[in-house]
Amino acid sequence: MDTKLRYGFRDTKLVQAKVRQIQKLVTRPWAIMEICGGQTHSIKKFGLDQLLPPEIEFIHGPGCPVCVTSLELIDKALQIAALPNVIFTSYGDMLRVPGSKGDLFSVKANGGDVRVVYSPLDSLKIAQENPRKEVVFFAIGFETTAPANAMSVLQAEAMRIDNFSLLVSHVCVPPAMRAILNSPSNRVQGFLAAGHVCTVMGYWEYIPIAEEYRVPIVVTGFEPLDILEGVYRVVRQLEGGTHEVENAYSRLVTYEGNRAAQKVIQQVFEVCDRKWRGIGTIPKSGWKLRDAYLKFDAEHRFDTQAIETQESPLCIAGLVLQGLKKPYECSAFGTLCTPQNPLGATMVSSEGACAAYYLYSRNLESPKMNHV
Ligand code: SF4
Repeated sequence: MDTKLRYGFRDTKLVQAKVRQIQKLVTRPWAIMEICGGQTHSIKKFGLDQLLPPEIEFIHGPGCPVCVTSLELIDKALQIAALPNVIFTSYGDMLRVPGSKGDLFSVKANGGDVRVVYSPLDSLKIAQENPRKEVVFFAIGFETTAPANAMSVLQAEAMRIDNFSLLVSHVCVPPAMRAILNSPSNRVQGFLAAGHVCTVMGYWEYIPIAEEYRVPIVVTGFEPLDILEGVYRVVRQLEGGTHEVENAYSRLVTYEGNRAAQKVIQQVFEVCDRKWRGIGTIPKSGWKLRDAYLKFDAEHRFDTQAIETQESPLCIAGLVLQGLKKPYECSAFGTLCTPQNPLGATMVSSEGACAAYYLYSRNLESPKMNHV
């Protein structure tokens, strides 16, 4: 985003005015889930939870792809990356995510060829340049990263690059929202939906959720004013007893989303059940490669040994991801578990809730204990 434009969305006077508007509206406590980990980081980084009236509680959602990639798949990645003929490529965040025994950094330290890339197309180029090697890209992410991953498969096919494959861990937001709302322990009363996901997918999928569960959903962005506008609109609906989908991110999001991107996703991927780390399997919550593209599926291409996963017994990241616990309620937070020595994925990722609390509020004696 243009710097001038970005700072417009951080303008102190406008932020204060929006907070005052919210203060005037609130008459009772409300629990609002921001779905995306990027929003969680903005909330903590800019102290938005400190600015808002104590009646507003942010519940941090599961929208951090690094955090929810299943332990089985992380362990599978470690096995594949350790193979002698493989170049394993990934976004940087994934290298520190703990598997049952080690992480991708430890595989690299032990001689594995693990490389950080910024897009699947970088991986494709590596595959082109290394025809005798198998090049695997760790294709994690929500709807946002799916179009580029799908494109890489189509390009590999068009260019007849046969030594390229994806280890796919795509997850989708709407089924996760339904799982949260169906949980007997659910406390979420309204949602801030993630603007970047909706830039791709639009927001039509959220309308039946809002109607069925009678819950307001506001699509918003990541800057302070975006988030506060989202909170304002959710609170306005909660106080008024309505439950609609509103778009507070219209500078990027449309009702139907990016049809071309959706078409590419549909062409390459199909819906599947997906296991979410710390949460379990959510039916129809992921995408896998269609049979027509099976040769680009790393799980199909490589035989991995039977995997017995083992999470740290101290880690409560699953509860954090479901909004049932806050990071500081974990006994290992900031002591045994830090970004340098993470026990769980939520302490690693630049979108993880534990990392957000560690980076921005661990030194506060009482990090807004009224609602943090
Ligand atoms: S602080 Fe660390 S151990 Fe605790 S829940 Fe977060 S990631 Fe897991």
